[in-house]
Amino acid sequence: MTKLETQAIHAGHQVDPTTGAITPPIHLSTTFERQPDGAYPHGYYYARSDNPNRHALEASLAELEGGVEAAAFASGSGAVMTILQALAPGDHVIAPDDLYFGIRLLLQDVFTPWGLAVNFVDTTNLAAVKQALQTNTRLVLIETPSNPLLKITDIRGLAGLAHEVGACLVCDNTIATPVLQRPLDLGADLVIHATTKYLGGHSDVLGGLVVAKANNELWQKIKHIRQIGGAVPSPFECWLALRGIQTLPYRVRAQADTARQVAQFLQTHPAVEAVHYPGLPSHPGHPVAAGQMEKFGGLFSFQVKGGQAEAMAVAARVKIFIRATSFGGTHSLIEHRASIEAPGTTTPENLLRASIGLENVDDLIEDLDQALD
Ligand SMILES: *Cc1c(COP(=O)(O)O)cnc(C)c1O
Repeated sequence: MTKLETQAIHAGHQVDPTTGAITPPIHLSTTFERQPDGAYPHGYYYARSDNPNRHALEASLAELEGGVEAAAFASGSGAVMTILQALAPGDHVIAPDDLYFGIRLLLQDVFTPWGLAVNFVDTTNLAAVKQALQTNTRLVLIETPSNPLLKITDIRGLAGLAHEVGACLVCDNTIATPVLQRPLDLGADLVIHATTKYLGGHSDVLGGLVVAKANNELWQKIKHIRQIGGAVPSPFECWLALRGIQTLPYRVRAQADTARQVAQFLQTHPAVEAVHYPGLPSHPGHPVAAGQMEKFGGLFSFQVKGGQAEAMAVAARVKIFIRATSFGGTHSLIEHRASIEAPGTTTPENLLRASIGLENVDDLIEDLDQALD
């Protein structure tokens, strides 16, 4: 078995057999020729069902996450939606109290009226999860590190609890990436990614992926719903995501190293009330994170002393960081999170989230230093 950096370059890649091209062509054809005997010898017949660029991306991520198969989607949200559609009305779902806000809305606004029973639970607390489990719990969704508070959930612990009642553990690994954390090895059944973030890596792809540990009934249902429901990505977006993955290990480790230094700097700054980064020994999830992550990622959040106005003023003064949503790209981004999430958010008003890009660490620290003064 080759190692991660080699897999990132070679899994899903092959030299194009017809031209010798090293970089794969983008296959835009929506339909594929059928043989006189009715067969499709290359395995493709219609682009909603499968496409060579999508197939390559899926092969790559299945290998990186150590799963049996992966399925690509039009967005990270589309991936989660399809998993939820594979459940039945009356099923119970446990979701984290701190998670990507769009997924919370999907659970509340679409799937609760549709008939799922949903509980938002502090998944960092095993006793709380144990208490929330029901005989009809089909799915336990976790996000670790979580967004935007970077809370850490014990993947092994949650897998044990979920499996006791026959529920499936789904881990959103978007923030950690398979470079830093491999949830399937720790007991998760499915891994979710927004390729939009680190996998694409350059803020130019919208996409999602689900990786399965086993080819079971739930996985077949997810793939069936994707095929007939059509939440699939375009060939170009799959091509961009696969291109991004080639440099993933080097980008993510550099971003994690920089984030740790910037977080350490902020922790000592008098204008900062709190820093949420699992790489800091003061973070309550640090010991669990150290046991399940290689490094602690390129994303963190911090609370400025004061309220929304003080936090917005800091974001208004940055010169290298860009004020924008999302994360995982080459540019460092900063965002006042509460005002972008919908009303009713539990995110503190004085919180800024920072996504560390690939700039020089000293420049980033200097930028935040002048913005905080
Ligand atoms: C961005 C994100 C999603 C949703 O992905 P989209 O591609 O924007 O739909 C899901 N989970 C996490 C953790 C995310 O950061």
